[in-house]
Amino acid sequence: MARVVFLGPPGAGKGTQASRFAAEHGVPHLSTGDLLRAAVAARTPLGREADGYMQQGQLVPDPLVLRILSERLALPDARDGFLLDGFPRNVAQATRLESMTRLDSVLFFDLPPERLVDRLSGRRVCPTCQSVYHVTAAPPRIEGRCDVDGHDLVQRSDDRPDAIRMRLKVYAEQTAPLLEYYRARGLLRSIDADGAPGQVAVRLRAALT
Ligand code: AMP
Repeated sequence: MARVVFLGPPGAGKGTQASRFAAEHGVPHLSTGDLLRAAVAARTPLGREADGYMQQGQLVPDPLVLRILSERLALPDARDGFLLDGFPRNVAQATRLESMTRLDSVLFFDLPPERLVDRLSGRRVCPTCQSVYHVTAAPPRIEGRCDVDGHDLVQRSDDRPDAIRMRLKVYAEQTAPLLEYYRARGLLRSIDADGAPGQVAVRLRAALT
């Protein structure tokens, strides 16, 4: 069973590949962004605290994220393998993760910064089933409606221009240093994350075998 981390800037397609990969490998897809959004939607105390940081595109403070992640990682389905998407996002989180579990590989989604803004600003999501679309690159069959359950698609509040700018800045300053961190541990593999999801999935499979 695999213990894998997907690392890369926002908009690189980690979430899209993570859903496929998790289903193929029978491992849970652990996305701290999804866990936090669920806490915000449920208006839990943790969700209420996290909300403002997320809206602005800032990182949610480590103690909150670590709490939500360690609770999820402790569930039985993650015992033999998992796919982490969006965690760790800074060196302190990576160090904590190292003390919780071992990893088999860290996969870096490589995409030029100029492609990220287009990917993020055109992204639309289904608020009920979390399916992800793009207004031009991966549109739904009926404009504005989810192919899976027909719900109206929405734009994430942090996919708006000023939050996107902040998320890319936070990535460059806090998350990008993890490339060196995991390279030094011999865990890092890179894939070209440009192209259609099907093409990227082929590269991903090749990188992990
Ligand atoms: P994502 O869905 O991975 O793009 O995450 C959306 C937002 O959730 C981020 O912009 C952060 O505000 C917050 N978030 C998700 N994962 C983390 C993390 N590991 N550390 C801190 N904040 C996080």
